[in-house]
Amino acid sequence: MLNSSILSVNNLSKTFKSGNKELTVLKDINFSIEKGISCAIVGPSGSGKTTLLGLCAGLDKPTSGDVILNDQKISALKESDLSAIRNEQIGFVFQSFQLIPTLTALENVMVPIELRGVSYREVEKKAIDLLDKVGLRDRVTHYPTQLSGGEQQRVGLARAFIHKPEVLFADEPTGNLDGDTGSQIEDLLFELNKDEGTTLIIVTHDRELASKCNRIIELKSGSIISDTTSPVEQTETIQADLAQ
Ligand code: ADP
Repeated sequence: MLNSSILSVNNLSKTFKSGNKELTVLKDINFSIEKGISCAIVGPSGSGKTTLLGLCAGLDKPTSGDVILNDQKISALKESDLSAIRNEQIGFVFQSFQLIPTLTALENVMVPIELRGVSYREVEKKAIDLLDKVGLRDRVTHYPTQLSGGEQQRVGLARAFIHKPEVLFADEPTGNLDGDTGSQIEDLLFELNKDEGTTLIIVTHDRELASKCNRIIELKSGSIISDTTSPVEQTETIQADLAQ
């Protein structure tokens, strides 16, 4: 049997309006993502990648079409229901890390769950375990300015995984990092994808990072121009089908 889909995008379009000007940045986008895979969204600057990621994560509303995440039409939900879904099912990693400067590494990782009123000790333990996993056990009391870019992104990853999200959206997660540091973050992303079964959806202009994903969706001027599943993934799927 084929993996079930965790995210479906149907006839999605997005037009931004400013004054009497309109800019259509996504045009009739359709795809669906299987649970547990890694998928890269690639394309030139301005092709609509970040806009698409934001719509998929419920950060913005489409002009038309639907986004269905885990059987819920998130494009039709009101903000209060959406924020619950974001807290429980979605993780987000940003190019610019977006840590809170006045909080330590540990406190930053705890933010998404602390806000939901779970026991402090329980969350603290989870956060320390995750910081350990990303190699920052000895940096828990450091503030973001006391951490390198790579370390800040590790904190960002730990924060995104604190509530074991079903889907992790990452927007250019290695875009601000040098080659080696970026590779370490990539390795961690794929390790967490494997260990936790979290579906990864990564916007990147880095072809090498994209080539490590199971699937690559390529955008140009707001349309999908290619959608490729890696031969390994296809083989595994066929083998799994045959084994049923
Ligand atoms: P990419 O991530 O591929 O570089 P984006 O999704 O960031 O592309 O942007 C696609 C286009 O949409 C760009 O021309 C950008 O200027 C425009 N755009 C993005 N967000 C907004 C917005 N909030 N208002 C108006 N135009 C926007």
